[in-house]
Amino acid sequence: MIIPGSTPHLALAAVLEEKDGPFVIKPVTLEAPRPDEVLVRMVATGVCATDAHVRQQAMPTPLPVVLGHEGAGVVERVGASVTHLQPGDHVVLSYHSCGHCKPCLSSHAAYCDKVWEANFAGARLDGSVGVSAEGEGRLHAHFFGQSSFATRALAHQRNAFKVPKDVPLEILGPLGCGFQTGAGAILKAMQVPVGASVAVFGAGAVGLAAIMAAKIADAASIIAIDINPERLSLALELGATHVVNARETSNVAAALRGIEARGVEFVLDTSGRKENLNAGIAALAPMGRFGFVAFNDHAGAVLDAARLTVGQTLQGIIQGDATSALMIPELIGLYRNGRFPFDRLIRFYPFADINQAFDDVAKGRVIKAVLRFDAVAV
Ligand SMILES: [Zn+2]
Ligand SMILES: [Zn+2]
Repeated sequence: MIIPGSTPHLALAAVLEEKDGPFVIKPVTLEAPRPDEVLVRMVATGVCATDAHVRQQAMPTPLPVVLGHEGAGVVERVGASVTHLQPGDHVVLSYHSCGHCKPCLSSHAAYCDKVWEANFAGARLDGSVGVSAEGEGRLHAHFFGQSSFATRALAHQRNAFKVPKDVPLEILGPLGCGFQTGAGAILKAMQVPVGASVAVFGAGAVGLAAIMAAKIADAASIIAIDINPERLSLALELGATHVVNARETSNVAAALRGIEARGVEFVLDTSGRKENLNAGIAALAPMGRFGFVAFNDHAGAVLDAARLTVGQTLQGIIQGDATSALMIPELIGLYRNGRFPFDRLIRFYPFADINQAFDDVAKGRVIKAVLRFDAVAV
């Protein structure tokens, strides 16, 4: 007997089966949402550097897995204890967290004690998996509490955030990770004050979001550092007051001190490259802060603690330390009044072209690839 409302749901998911392998789109079955979950029909999802890192197994998320963590979609069903969402709501999916630990209870859920289990373990926090594929053995999912590289996703009520319907849903997914990370690093994690000097290494999706946020914060000087002249031009359009092309500069730290003689007060590295840690610290003003959002195990960055003697701070940042329930609506408000035009960074791809999208991101041909599901029927 089929009990109404308990029928499993079908979807097409892009499954990563092996390290560095292609994404293979195949049918999967989703469990009905548990009491604290929501079933979301995906409309679009961003491609983020973290997905690529897991594909390379720089992070040991188990395979085969359904990745994707910048989902935007429409709620189809809600679990029995979900009270803030209902079918038909537009939602953006963001990072997941446990909700019970000290960071979660003090508005720092990005630093949840269970950040690994909630986002990277490929399972729910209780170890179960609600997504399966025939003949696949154990499939891993619930990546960032969503696994949004699929036409449907099982999200948790803690990481599904209602968004207004008068803003195009297909552009909103990256607010759940990349754009939130860049903007939150400036506005929340580092709390850049009016009149400050800011330098941002890397003019990709995260870096350009940080540059827009530094302008929103009324920083007096905003310096973008990259090796791509087109991205540096875009940085100037989006709020940078100065740019440094690191390929054409033998000493980036000296170039930064040529712009800010006493050093830069806030440096954000979005690249994870060890030479940028070195240059950024060398360019830091007394009491300056160096924030970093990219963690590249292979870069081998090592820092002599004596270089932070004059009150400087080194700050690792996840998700901009943002509380997504607050940050996503704030960024949508800033988008509406023209101060956070993140849609300029997006290029759309059909879901079927996911491998092309990853290739284009890796080669720097696109700043923020967003997969659209509108042509996919299940
Ligand atoms: Zn991400
Ligand atoms: Zn927690």
